[in-house]
Amino acid sequence: MNTLVYSSHEFDIPFLEKEAKNKHQLTFTKQALNLSTVNLAQGFEAIALFSNDNPCKEVLEKLHQFGVKFIALRSVGFDHVDLDESKTLGIKVANVPEYSPYAIAEHGVAMLMMLNRKLYEAQLLIQLQDFRLDTLVGFDLNKKKIGIIGTGKIGLVFAKIMNGFGCEILAYDPVQINNSDELNITYTSLEQLLKESDIVSLNCPLNTSTKKLLSEPQFEIMKKGAILINTARGGVICTESLLKYLENGHLGGACLDVFENEKGLYFFDHRNTIIKDQLFVRLRNLKNVVLTSHQAFLTNEALTGIAQTTISNLSQWEKEGISSNDLN
Ligand code: NAD
Repeated sequence: MNTLVYSSHEFDIPFLEKEAKNKHQLTFTKQALNLSTVNLAQGFEAIALFSNDNPCKEVLEKLHQFGVKFIALRSVGFDHVDLDESKTLGIKVANVPEYSPYAIAEHGVAMLMMLNRKLYEAQLLIQLQDFRLDTLVGFDLNKKKIGIIGTGKIGLVFAKIMNGFGCEILAYDPVQINNSDELNITYTSLEQLLKESDIVSLNCPLNTSTKKLLSEPQFEIMKKGAILINTARGGVICTESLLKYLENGHLGGACLDVFENEKGLYFFDHRNTIIKDQLFVRLRNLKNVVLTSHQAFLTNEALTGIAQTTISNLSQWEKEGISSNDLN
């Protein structure tokens, strides 16, 4: 199957090429899919997309005109795809429902440790040969309350890791797991979780029920000094409100791997441009905010898993006209 891979990067091309060998012909473009790049898909029956591509209604209509029949998403999240429109047009869409939940959960913990134990500042001070410790005081995670919003694959790995630190785990999810006792997880309302937790981790998908789930009223009831971790999707929080509660000192800090306006920003080299997005600039200027540019998935194991499932989705669709990870 001759497939155009949009938003391909040096970090994922080798993994995709290895899995596709002798099965599929992949053509790579660094460009993200949008209205100005959709023409590149002419002549391809299948395309592969990443989380920051934009298969909106107009783009899907063009893809349909060009004869594209299958979209292989290289992501768990599918909040960026107009699934209703793709169904109407008869374009099948499949995702990678699981690759390595460890990659994302471990990255959340890494950001938390970096923020709490002030590791970035500690490294800078070491380079300056300033060995004073006065600005580097953190807190023990042991016995702290961790609130997990979304106890799916990633949320549960995160819960297991935090159990290892001796934390108390609260969780909020409309679908509760059966063996929550074994994992020391206590389900509660969102409100109680926000009121009681020292650290809140977002591990739910972005959909109509979670869009701006955390806005001003939710930040208002969060515990003073609490830390927020978001490795899910930027749109789950209202960044403007988050900034208000970071800047007024109510929240202790934030660890953000994803950002509401990350499309067109993350995954690209902006070294020679002035970043105009004031939400991003304000976040970056805060000392108690750790930002990474959507890199939580970036491990060898996760990239292997993404490539394997993407290629298997393509093969299944080519043979049977549908794949087991079909979304529509
Ligand atoms: P999952 O489907 O296994 O789990 C999601 C959980 O969220 C489910 O248990 C679901 O019931 C719950 N949920 C749904 N609506 C909710 C709501 N309103 N409130 C609370 N919980 C709700 O998914 P997963 O593999 O754990 O991934 C979670 C999300 O992480 C993905 O949807 C994706 O957006 C994000 N993600 C980010 C990266 C990254 O690199 N930063 C990588 C992979 C996934």
